[in-house]
Amino acid sequence: MRYTKKQRQDLQRQPGGAQCGRCGRRLTQGASCWYINGVLLCRACLLDYAMGFFAPHREEAAP
Ligand SMILES: [Zn+2]
Repeated sequence: MRYTKKQRQDLQRQPGGAQCGRCGRRLTQGASCWYINGVLLCRACLLDYAMGFFAPHREEAAP
């Protein structure tokens, strides 16, 4: 899904500031965040999302 910069700015202007759509953490101004599949994610949630996304590719290293 493509989004324009204007839509992204609108998310940042939500009442009370931007908020992570997964954990609910308030995002401070200038904090990195990721807009994925219609959900705004903070840094911590991005890691969880990525781990789940790439779970099918997970392997365990052999000794
Ligand atoms: Zn979060």
